[in-house]
Amino acid sequence: MTIPDLGADALPQVFGRPVPLPSGIDRPFHEGLAAHRLVLQHCTCGTWQWPPEVVCHRCRGFDPGWAEVEPAGFLYTWTRVWHPAHEALRAAVPYVVAVVEMPAAGGIRLVGNLLLPDVATADITTGTAVRGVFADQPGGYALLQWQPA
Ligand SMILES: [Zn+2]
Repeated sequence: MTIPDLGADALPQVFGRPVPLPSGIDRPFHEGLAAHRLVLQHCTCGTWQWPPEVVCHRCRGFDPGWAEVEPAGFLYTWTRVWHPAHEALRAAVPYVVAVVEMPAAGGIRLVGNLLLPDVATADITTGTAVRGVFADQPGGYALLQWQPA
């Protein structure tokens, strides 16, 4: 398959490499990833929610807590990216963006890359069991990525 060179990237180059920008409310999540632990918002009423909010969407309680959960789930949906949306990602294509559903966390869904040996041609099937991988990045943060279990 030939990928056309579309010229200018979608994002201006002044932005540099895209990186997570913790907002404060998601700080426990990012601190957990840096420690290679998956920590998600989990209210005392038993509700898991993502993205994090100041209020539980079920009981309306303020400041829902956080809990560690096993980074495992199944592939809900995915897409293979061929065109880099940013110059810093040019060497990364092709890559697969996965949406992973986590039954152990109330069925919430997280987004990450699906790591595969031959990402350009690999057969990918929704419903596949996947496991989280903590990928340390320059700058002291980590990304949650996924691989077949
Ligand atoms: Zn709640």
